[in-house]
Amino acid sequence: MLPPIFQKASKIISVLEENQYEAYFVGGCVRDYMTGRPIHDVDIASSALPSEVQKIFPKVIPVGLEHGTVIVRYEQESFEVTTYRTEGEYSDHRRPDDVRFVRDIKEDLKRRDFTMNAIAMDTNGKILDPFGGKQAIESGLIQTVGHAADRFEEDALRIIRALRFCSQLGFSIEEDTKKAMQRCGAQIDYLAVERLTAELEKMVAGPFFNQAVDYLFALELYHYLPIFKEEPLLLKELEPVSSLAPVFALVELKSAALTAAACIQAYKCSNQLKRQALNLVEGYHLYQKNGIDAWFVYQLPKQQWEDFIYLVRQIDQATIDRQALHRIRNKLPILSKKELCVNGYDIIEWFPERPKGKWIKDVLDKIEYHVVISKLANEKSKIKEWIQWNLPAQG
Ligand code: ATP
Ligand code: MG
Repeated sequence: MLPPIFQKASKIISVLEENQYEAYFVGGCVRDYMTGRPIHDVDIASSALPSEVQKIFPKVIPVGLEHGTVIVRYEQESFEVTTYRTEGEYSDHRRPDDVRFVRDIKEDLKRRDFTMNAIAMDTNGKILDPFGGKQAIESGLIQTVGHAADRFEEDALRIIRALRFCSQLGFSIEEDTKKAMQRCGAQIDYLAVERLTAELEKMVAGPFFNQAVDYLFALELYHYLPIFKEEPLLLKELEPVSSLAPVFALVELKSAALTAAACIQAYKCSNQLKRQALNLVEGYHLYQKNGIDAWFVYQLPKQQWEDFIYLVRQIDQATIDRQALHRIRNKLPILSKKELCVNGYDIIEWFPERPKGKWIKDVLDKIEYHVVISKLANEKSKIKEWIQWNLPAQG
C-alpha cells in the first residue's frame, strides 16, 4: 500500500481514469518515495488537457495554463495536475519557446531533467521507468535523460539542479553528466536569477551540501554564482542551513568587501529575507558588544534563534545556550514596542507646548530600551516622570 500522502491524490487519478484519461504520480514524490525520503507534495501528470481537467472537477485553479498546470482542489487539499507535454528549444536560456501537449506519458518523461525524476507511478505503486531511473536511484547516481550537453544547453538551470539534488540526496553525478556540467557552465549566467535562487536555497539546506560544494569547485562552477564567485572560499566553510538569511549574514560578517544587502540584491530575494539577514547581522554586532543580554534577546525574533546559533557556531565555533535565551526571554518586561504602557499620543498630551516631531519617536525608543533592560518600570506614571527628567531641551 502506498503511504497516506498518495491516497487522496489516488482518488484524483481514479476520477481522471474514469473519464478515459491517463494519470500518474510523477517527479519528486516518486523519487522521494523510492529513496525512502519524506514526501512533501504529490504531483500528478495526466493526458487530460487543462480544459478537460476543468470540466471534470468542480474546483480547479488555473495556475500555469501555458505550461498545462492546474491545481485541483479536492477534499480540502490541493494537487497540481500537469498535462503531458514536450518542450521546444530554450533559445533565451530562460523558458522554452513552445510547449506542446501530448497524449503519451513517455514523451512527457523524456523532457524531464534527470532519470530519477523521470519515473511515473500508478495508484498501485507500479512504475513506468523508460530511462532507468530506478537503477540510478539504487546506484545513487544523478544522470540526465538523454544527451547531457544537449539537456544543459536547453536549460542551464539543470546544472544547478544536479548540485541541489546532490546536496539533498548525497548522490554522485554520473560521468557524462558531470563533464557536460563543466562544459556548459557558462550558460548559467543567462538564467533568470530567481530560478537560481530557488535552487540555491534548497542546495544550502541539503545534508550533503559539502559534497555539492566539492562538485562546484571540481567542475569550476562557482564562477557562475553571484557573490560567491568573488569569495569562493566562503562556500567551503559553510555547514548546511535551512535558509539563505544566515548565509548572507555570514557573508557580510566574514568578508571585508561584501554585504548581506549586496547578496539580497544579487539574488533578488524577498524583503522578508532581507529583513532576516540584516537582523542577524545586527544581532551579531549586539552579541559581540554585550553578549547575550535582555536587549539582545528582545531584538532577535525567536524564529531566528536557530539561524543565530548557526551563525555564531560558524564564526566563533562557539555554542549559544538555548536555555539562557529562554530564561532571559521569559523575564523580559515587554516583548514588543506595542506592549509599552505609553504611546505617541500620551506624550503629545503630556507635553502640549512642544510641537510634534521626530523627538516623540526618539523618546519612545529610549523608553523602550530602558523598559527592556529593566531600568524603567512599564507604568504610565513612572514613564511620565522619566520623560520629565530626560526630555532634551527644546530648540
Ligand atoms: P522537490 O522535492 O524539491 O519539489 P522535484 O523533483 O519535485 O523536487 P520540482 O522543481 O518540483 O522538483 O520539479 C518537478 C519535476 O519537474 C522534476 O522532478 C522534474 O521531473 C521536472 N523538472 C523540474 N524542473 C525541470 C527542468 N528545469 N528541466 C527538466 N525537468 C524539470
Ligand atoms: Mg516538486
